[in-house]
Amino acid sequence: MTDTSGTLFIVAAPSGAGKSTLVNALLEREPGISLSVSHTTRPPRPGEQYGRHYYFVERTEFEREVAEGVFLEHAEVHGNFYGTSRKTVQHLLQQSRDVLLEIDWQGAAQIRKAKPDCVSVFILPPSRVELERRLRGRGSDSDEVIERRLRNSRGEIAHAHEFDYVIVNDRFEEALDGLQAIVRAVRQRSDLQCQRHEALIKELLAEA
Ligand code: 5GP
Repeated sequence: MTDTSGTLFIVAAPSGAGKSTLVNALLEREPGISLSVSHTTRPPRPGEQYGRHYYFVERTEFEREVAEGVFLEHAEVHGNFYGTSRKTVQHLLQQSRDVLLEIDWQGAAQIRKAKPDCVSVFILPPSRVELERRLRGRGSDSDEVIERRLRNSRGEIAHAHEFDYVIVNDRFEEALDGLQAIVRAVRQRSDLQCQRHEALIKELLAEA
C-alpha cells in the first residue's frame, strides 16, 4: 500500500440480511468512502439505474470484459454474473479514498488474494425466519428468485468465518454503529497513521 492509497473494505451477506441498506447509511454518515459500482448480467429491478446501482450488461459483453481482464474479481451469484472493475477501484484508492465493495464470498476470496490488506465484514441476519421475511418484504423479486436466494443463503453464510468481522443485523442502528466503528478503527491503524503523520512523528522525536 502506498501513502496515497485508501483501504479496500468488503461487505458480504446472504441476500436479505440488509447489507445494501446498511452500506448506504454508512456512506451517508461517513465521509471519505466510496462504493464501487459493479457490472452485472442481472436485469435491473424497478427503480435501479445504470451506473448508479450497477452497470447492467449483456452476458456476451461481460464475457468479453472477463477475457480483457477488466475485473479485479468476478463470480456467478444466483445464476447471474457480477464483477468489480479493476480501474474504478484503483482510481478511487489512488485518490486516497477508502473503497467499499458489496460482493459475495467468492469475490471476497479473490480480493483477499489480490489485496491481502483489505478488510472484510460479513453481515448475518438475526434468524432464518427474519431473513425470509426481509426477502419477501422487498416485493421486487418473483417467488422463484426468492426461493433460490433463500436456498443459496446457506452457501454464503458457511463462509462467514473467513471474514475479519461479523455483524448481526438485528437492530439496524446497532449494526450500523458496528460497521462505522470498524471503518473508524481501521483508519486509526498504526501502519496507516504512522505513514500519514510521518512529519509529526519526526518532529515529536527530534532532540530539543
Ligand atoms: P443483487 O442481485 O441482490 O444486487 O446481488 C446479489 C449478490 O451478488 C449479492 O450477494 C451481492 O453482494 C453480489 N454482488 C454484487 N456485485 C458483485 C460483484 O461485483 N462481485 C461479486 N463477486 N458479487 C457481487
